[in-house]
Amino acid sequence: MSQLEEILDYNQHFVKNESYRPYEAPSRPVKKMTIVSCMDCRLIELLPKALDVKNGDAIMLKSAGGMVESPYSNTMKSILVSLYELGSEAVYIIGHTNCGMHGLHGHKMVDDIKQRGVSDQKFATVREQGVDLDQWLNGFQSVEEEVQKSVTIVKNHPLLPEGTPVIGLVIDPKTGELKKI
Ligand SMILES: [Zn+2]
Repeated sequence: MSQLEEILDYNQHFVKNESYRPYEAPSRPVKKMTIVSCMDCRLIELLPKALDVKNGDAIMLKSAGGMVESPYSNTMKSILVSLYELGSEAVYIIGHTNCGMHGLHGHKMVDDIKQRGVSDQKFATVREQGVDLDQWLNGFQSVEEEVQKSVTIVKNHPLLPEGTPVIGLVIDPKTGELKKI
């Protein structure tokens, strides 16, 4: 059975047995909070459990490293949507130790992409869009600094509702322990 077939098979039972019942929730976040965090697979369940966040409690935004890269990135747009349209009132930026983006250099990832057989011509197509790949694919050297950078971008955003708390945290992906930045 392929992975998709397994998923669809499981899904039929999930719905039929009403296994969704414990997860029924309103569409606006009950705890009025927006969380920006890393896509790391260890955080799927650990992060909400460690924060006592249940289905329906928070808006959860995920990306590589959990970074807010610029004031007009998709992540920043999503934060604004959560605050203006979905009733969220606070933003939590949560980085984590032992992150895959820690120490990742754009040029290393460019090498990895080349190794997979992507042609120079395709790289040229990207460059024609004015993209500096080395910079675009860069990770970070310090998770604390990176979280602080994201917090600053959100705090200084001209469209952020006045008085919105923007909080930076770092989570341990093994124990779930939080440290404030
Ligand atoms: Zn990560």
